[in-house]
Amino acid sequence: MPNPTRKHSRSRQGKRRANWKLVLPALSTCPQCAKPILSHRICGFCGFYRGQQLVLIKEKPAKKKQA
Ligand SMILES: [Zn+2]
Repeated sequence: MPNPTRKHSRSRQGKRRANWKLVLPALSTCPQCAKPILSHRICGFCGFYRGQQLVLIKEKPAKKKQA
């Protein structure tokens, strides 16, 4: 198996990784509830996709106040 002749230095590794960037996914808005959603996916807030409710979203029960 061919192997690299030399180990890449930490500096060289860092220079390569300096170009790694976090990219936000392209978001569209849900036509039902107008919240930002990933395109081609069921809305996680209302469960709608292509004008139909496909998933029932349970509402979180209200937090009980501690006495
Ligand atoms: Zn929605």
